[in-house]
Amino acid sequence: MYGVITCSRCKTVQGANLSHSRINCVRCRRTIDLTRAVVHFSTESPQELAKAIRRYSELKRGQDIPLPNPMLTYQKKESIESVISDLGKREEGFTVSELSVRMNIKEEDSERLIDRFLVMGLLYEVKSGAYRLV
Ligand SMILES: [Zn+2]
Repeated sequence: MYGVITCSRCKTVQGANLSHSRINCVRCRRTIDLTRAVVHFSTESPQELAKAIRRYSELKRGQDIPLPNPMLTYQKKESIESVISDLGKREEGFTVSELSVRMNIKEEDSERLIDRFLVMGLLYEVKSGAYRLV
């Protein structure tokens, strides 16, 4: 099993073979304890791993950018966090379109939200396109 992790020192997003208990960061060589690292995404497929690393690195670069303001007006009575924690409890997970219906937002916004929660390590992909709370 491979996983996407972030170095706690230099914040570099990288892949790791999760059957090892520790690896050295590809950039700063710090020893990363894989038994304690937050795994953002895990997969058996090296191709999927490569794609996921690219995706998380891109997200990471944009991570300091706050949610666009119009998002706030979508929030209505329910906060994003409470909707995610409600939907995310389901065994089978929830999809991008379920979240957009529930929040009354566009699918692309809902996708962006899910990505943020994935990168924060709060959600994971149960199966392709379905997300669940960690
Ligand atoms: Zn590092």
